[in-house]
Amino acid sequence: MSKIYDLIILGAGPAGITGAVYAARKKLDFLVITLDIGGQTVWSGDIENYTGYQFVTGPELASKFREHMEAFKIEVRMPERVTDIKKEGDIIRTITNNAEYLSKTAIVATGKRPRPLGAEGEQEFKNKGVTYCATCDGPLFKDKPVAIIGGGNSGLDAALQMVKISPKVYLIESGAQLSADSLMIDNIKKASNVEICTNSKVNKIYGDTFVKGIEIEKQGKVHNLNVEGIFIEIGLIPNSKFAFILERDEKDEIVVDCYNKTNIEGIFAAGDVTNVPEKQIVIACGEGSKATLSAFRYLSTHKF
Ligand SMILES: Cc1cc2nc3c(=O)[nH]c(=O)nc-3n(C[C@H](O)[C@H](O)[C@H](O)COP(=O)(O)OP(=O)(O)OC[C@H]3O[C@@H](n4cnc5c(N)ncnc54)[C@H](O)[C@@H]3O)c2cc1C
Repeated sequence: MSKIYDLIILGAGPAGITGAVYAARKKLDFLVITLDIGGQTVWSGDIENYTGYQFVTGPELASKFREHMEAFKIEVRMPERVTDIKKEGDIIRTITNNAEYLSKTAIVATGKRPRPLGAEGEQEFKNKGVTYCATCDGPLFKDKPVAIIGGGNSGLDAALQMVKISPKVYLIESGAQLSADSLMIDNIKKASNVEICTNSKVNKIYGDTFVKGIEIEKQGKVHNLNVEGIFIEIGLIPNSKFAFILERDEKDEIVVDCYNKTNIEGIFAAGDVTNVPEKQIVIACGEGSKATLSAFRYLSTHKF
C-alpha cells in the first residue's frame, strides 16, 4: 500500500517554502512537490519591501529561501508537475506527471505564471527573443530595439527598465490609454527613445532563428516594427487549472477563508493562487505559514 503523508505541499514559492518550514518545525511527515524553488521571486529584480531586507534581489531572496528549506532536510520532488488533486474518503490523492501520492492534508501554493498573448509566432520565438520577464532577461537586449506589450504597471515597469539600455522601445497597448499608475506614465513619457502605440493589436511575431520584428495593427493600418526583443507583460494567471475539485472565482483563483481552508475539507491553499487580495512575497509567506498551522490543527483534531 502507498505511504500516506500527513501533508503534501504543492509549489515551492514563498508560500510553499514558508509552509514547509512550519511543517518541518511541527515535525509533520510531509512532502513538497514543485516545478522549481523560489517561484516568481526568481524573476523579480530589486525587492525593497520584504521585511528584514532593506534591499535584496529576487534571486538572492530565492536562494535564502532555498537555504532555509534545506536546513530541515525536507523531502522534495522536483521538477514534478501536479496535474490533478482528488479527495477519496478522508485521503487526498495528488497526481503528477510522474507519480501519485497520498496524504491526509494538502496545501495548494502553486502561485501564478505570465499570461500568454496568443499571437502568431509567440510560441515559436519563446526564449528566442520573446520573453515574459524584463527583470530577468532585459540585460540580454542591451543596445537592441525592443517592444513591450502591455500598458499596465508591469508593462510600464518593463518599459522603464528598457529605456535605460535599449536605443528604441515600442510600448504597445491594445486599449485607448495606458492603464499604469500615473507616475509611471509621466516617467515613461519623459524618455526620448520610447514610442507609445495605443489602440494597437499584435498580429504576429516573426524572425528566423531569433525575433526580427513584430506586426501590429492600429486602426486598420498594419505596421512592421523592427525589434529583436519582445516583452509580453499582460499580467499573470493562477496555476489552478489542475485543482478541478476546488472552488475558484472568476479569475480562476482558489477561494479560501481566513484559515486558508478551501471548499474541500483537508485541502488548504495559500499565496498568489488564492483569492486573498494583494499578491506580495510577505503576504504569500504569511499565508503559507497560516495554511500549515491550519493543516496541523486539522490533523490534530480529525479522526482518520
Ligand atoms: C517581475 C515580478 C516582480 C515582483 N516584485 C515583487 C516585489 O518587489 N515585492 C513583492 O513583495 N512581491 C513581488 N512580486 C510578487 C511575488 O513574487 C509573489 O507575490 C510571490 O512570489 C507569490 O508567492 P507564491 O508562493 O504564492 O507563488 P509563486 O511565487 O508563483 O510560486 C509558485 C510555486 O508553485 C510551483 N508550481 C506551479 N505550478 C505547479 C504545478 N502544476 N505543479 C507543481 N508545482 C507548481 C512553481 O514552480 C513555484 O515553485 C513580483 C512578481 C513578479 C512576477
